[in-house]
Amino acid sequence: MTRIISSESFDVRFPTSTMLDGSDAMNADPDYSAAYLRLKTDNSITGDSLVFTIGRGNEVQIAAINILAEKVVGLDLDDAFTNIGAIAKELSSDSQLRWLGPDKGVFHMAAGAVLNALWDLFSKNKGQPLWKFLSDMKPKEIVGAIDFRYISDALNSDEALEILNRQEANKSKNESLLLSRGVPAYTTTPGWLGYSDEKMLKLTQEAVSEGFSLVKFKCGKSLIDDRRRLTKIRELVGPDFPIAIDANQVWDVDSAISWINSLSEFNLRWIEEPTHPDDVLGHARIAREVSPTPVATGEMASSRIIFKQLLQSKAISVMQIDASRVAGVNENIANVLMAAKFGIPVCPHAGGVGLCEMVQHIAMWDSVSVTGHHSGRVVEYVDHLHEHFLEPALISKGHYMPPTLPGAGANMHQSSIDTYVFPLGEYWMNGAHT
Ligand SMILES: [Mg+2]
Repeated sequence: MTRIISSESFDVRFPTSTMLDGSDAMNADPDYSAAYLRLKTDNSITGDSLVFTIGRGNEVQIAAINILAEKVVGLDLDDAFTNIGAIAKELSSDSQLRWLGPDKGVFHMAAGAVLNALWDLFSKNKGQPLWKFLSDMKPKEIVGAIDFRYISDALNSDEALEILNRQEANKSKNESLLLSRGVPAYTTTPGWLGYSDEKMLKLTQEAVSEGFSLVKFKCGKSLIDDRRRLTKIRELVGPDFPIAIDANQVWDVDSAISWINSLSEFNLRWIEEPTHPDDVLGHARIAREVSPTPVATGEMASSRIIFKQLLQSKAISVMQIDASRVAGVNENIANVLMAAKFGIPVCPHAGGVGLCEMVQHIAMWDSVSVTGHHSGRVVEYVDHLHEHFLEPALISKGHYMPPTLPGAGANMHQSSIDTYVFPLGEYWMNGAHT
């Protein structure tokens, strides 16, 4: 028997703005940060998770996490696992806190931190990486983790069960393939807007040589710059190598349509985040009017309810879940199963800090237990800040290889936490940021 006895949190901030890593049309100077939660138990294991933010406001995220983490202190792990569906529901249903959402924003992400820390504990307790822990769960247990409120018109528990049951017979074959080949990755490392053309082309060449199946570039600040960059990229990689672009929400619907259509000659695999993440109908109109260029979004889709509408309105051809934007593993299970029902591939968003390490588990579970291995899935990879994690995401020949350490992937080295904790960590105390 293992009981959760306390929680602690850390406001960890990395000075990425000094390098323009992560710069795009919307986010000019991010300091990649983690609102980091650790649940302590009366055993040696801890439940670690994080919410990714880009700097200022990380303290607000931490405050919300601290409030919700209190609700799981005292729980026995076996009981928590049996009741994980009810716990997820309860974390989103506090009658006063719900006013600050509902099901979106700081408190929703805080619920995600608490739930992800619980899944970290469940899988560590069993000595398995999360992808394997999820893959070994029975379809009924998986369905029990889902909160079907507000999505049952798109996916009900019987349909979810049926999708999972269909894959049961293939699970061991899918797992062997995963262990030998991993899941295909794509990279955004060359594509930041703050990079010079020379740096972008050099990194693109490296990405292609390393075996990535797609390279993604930021866009949307200047059409002239976008055309110049894409022309040079196409010259380098040829007409057929998959490239995608990402506008990070800078356009209104009309400008999105005209901007994207004027780049249609570049044979884009997708246009990502063309407009505001809540504008479901706007995405649907964009999708209709920029066809055949596929539309992708989801990294800032605040909940399963937004994903439901994106799917129902045929607004997306690619669904991009994020590990820390929604309410944790539970809600992403729902998101992956809804996508399966609508026949849309899930290509998770990653990068930031720790997002690759976390979301790969969901993609791998999808490849074993839900939609199997198929050519529609590529998982985002960005090559920075991995050294801060106990088990950095491992890319081999352009594929994410399955992690082997028990847990859900967010475990950071204590030395990294101590150095970058804000504002009293060694890095920030030394004034290195000025
Ligand atoms: Mg993006």
